[in-house]
Amino acid sequence: MRRSRFFPRRWRAELKSIPIGRSQLHHRSPAQDGTVKYLLQLADGQIVETVGIPTQKRLTVCVSSQVGCPMACDFCATGKGNWQRNLACHEIVDQVLTVQEDFQRRVGNVVFMGMGEPLLNLDSVLAAIRSLNEDVGIGQRSLTLSTVGIPDRLRKLAKLKLQITLAVSLHASNQALRSQLVPSAQHYPLEALFADCREYVATTGRRVSFEYIVLAGVNDQPAHALELARHLRGLQSHVNLIPYNPIAEVDYQRPTANQLQTFMACLQAQHITATLRRSRGLDQDAACGQLRASQVQAAV
Ligand code: SAH
Repeated sequence: MRRSRFFPRRWRAELKSIPIGRSQLHHRSPAQDGTVKYLLQLADGQIVETVGIPTQKRLTVCVSSQVGCPMACDFCATGKGNWQRNLACHEIVDQVLTVQEDFQRRVGNVVFMGMGEPLLNLDSVLAAIRSLNEDVGIGQRSLTLSTVGIPDRLRKLAKLKLQITLAVSLHASNQALRSQLVPSAQHYPLEALFADCREYVATTGRRVSFEYIVLAGVNDQPAHALELARHLRGLQSHVNLIPYNPIAEVDYQRPTANQLQTFMACLQAQHITATLRRSRGLDQDAACGQLRASQVQAAV
């Protein structure tokens, strides 16, 4: 078993008494930009992906919360494979410790943006948030939970009044387009989702971040920006634009830098705060939406 000065004391004590080990490092793929993708093998043989994303200022870890994902978003590689199971709390925290040890550097941020839908595994995710906060020493404000939105769960999360950042995967400015891109949206109308986000802001005092994958020619027209701005007016929020990272199964187009800037400018002209997410780890399929269980076999 690997030991390290980064390994929290409480966990060390626990591991002495419980006959479970850490996940095994199965494969490590460093990308040209310094991002490292890890395949970790769990005790039952299942494999999950984790990504370490270093910048000069901080090291961010993108963790998985499930093996596979049942949400089946059209543009996401994870949803193209089979959903297997939820991760346990220790399997989530272990991902952060593995990256911390490998980089020999403290992890500053953790984003629940790897494989899986965190709100479908809320108990383990909440326990992991607590452990990352109390055992590993990462402030709640440095933890981000990204969700496509599950009816009732956002309200449940709001009541806990955590200081984490909530990121909601929106991706479309109207219900028809969203339902097409994100099948689960058929059961969660946009109006209800925004109502729950408003309640989240009111209860927690934290703004909500909206992720918007930009698919050239699909959701990136000025009319979409105007429609989005209308929904967000008066809601304390932030829009994070994610250029589509290509996956094999679908033929969406990645927007050009110009198309992205134009769309962002349209939002900003409507006084909507918007930033662009830089794609990291693209050459190792480690960027947003490129994590998939099926490639795991190929890497063995
Ligand atoms: N299940 C969570 C976490 C998913 S991954 C959620 O839906 O929020 C984090 C982000 O990457 C989500 O916003 C997701 O929609 C986005 N994403 C998925 N596939 C992508 C792709 N091919 N290119 C860019 N972003 C993608």
